[in-house]
Amino acid sequence: MFPNELQARKDIVYYSHKTQAHGFVSATDGNLSVRLDDEHILITPSSLRKEDMTMDDPIVINMKGELVSGTKKPSTEYKVHLEAYKQRPDIRAVIHAHPPRVIAFSITNTPFNTCILPEVVVNLGSVPIAPYATPSSDELPASMGDLIRQSDSVILARHGSVTVGVTMDEAFKKLEKLEHNAEILIWAHLLGGPTAFSDNQLADLNNLRSFYGVTSKSMSCSIAPSPRVGSTKQEPAQPPYKEVEAPTYRSNNDLDALVSEIVARVKKQL
Ligand SMILES: [Zn+2]
Repeated sequence: MFPNELQARKDIVYYSHKTQAHGFVSATDGNLSVRLDDEHILITPSSLRKEDMTMDDPIVINMKGELVSGTKKPSTEYKVHLEAYKQRPDIRAVIHAHPPRVIAFSITNTPFNTCILPEVVVNLGSVPIAPYATPSSDELPASMGDLIRQSDSVILARHGSVTVGVTMDEAFKKLEKLEHNAEILIWAHLLGGPTAFSDNQLADLNNLRSFYGVTSKSMSCSIAPSPRVGSTKQEPAQPPYKEVEAPTYRSNNDLDALVSEIVARVKKQL
C-alpha cells in the first residue's frame, strides 16, 4: 500500500531533520524519498540543508526524473533513488546519506565487517560495498543496482550509504545501525582488532531472523562476506575476521619509560 502524499511529506521532513541532527550528512548533502505510487516519487530538493526542510520543500518527480510538481530543483542524486525503486518494487522509502565513520572504512580499504554484532547480523547481514563512481553520474546508480536488489543497505565507496525500507523509519534505522557498527568497529580496531563469531553462533543468529520476523533483504553473514571496494565479486565463505590474539598491554612502568623516550627523542630533534 502506498502512503498518501501528506504523510510522505511529514515523514521526509521528520527524518530529514533527524538525519542531519545525527551527523549522517553535512551541509546540503544527502537526500530522502518516498514512493507515492508506481510512477511518482516525493524527494528532497537540491541545495537545502536537511535540518531546514519544511512541508512545502519536497518535490514530486516521475520515474524518468522529470519534475511533476514543486518549485525547487530535484537533487542531482535522484538517479540513486530511481535505481533503488526500479530494482526493488517492494520498498517505499530510500535514504542516501554520507555517514562519516562508514565512509572512513571505504576510503582506507578497511573491510567494513557487519558480522560481529548480534543485532547487526540479524537486521543488516553482510553489507555490500559498491565500487566508486562519480556522484551524480549515470555510473553511480549502475554501480549499486545489483547490490540493492540483494540488500536493504549498500555502501557507496568514498561517498556514503543507501538504505531502503517499506517505511522511512525502517530505512533510517538501517542507516543508524550502519554508522553505529562503524563506530564500534573503529573502537575494536583501536583495542586490538575485532574477533569473529563461530559458524554455529552465526547460524543461530541467522535463524533469529525468522524468529523475530525480520523481513528486510540482506546477504547472509555466514555465506557472503562483504565484497571489497572495487569488486562486486563474492568472496568464498569464511568468517570475515580471523580470531586475533589478545593484545599485550604494557605495565605503567613500561609506558612511563616509553613516554620518556619519545619526549627525549622529540626534544633532540628540536
Ligand atoms: Zn551523496
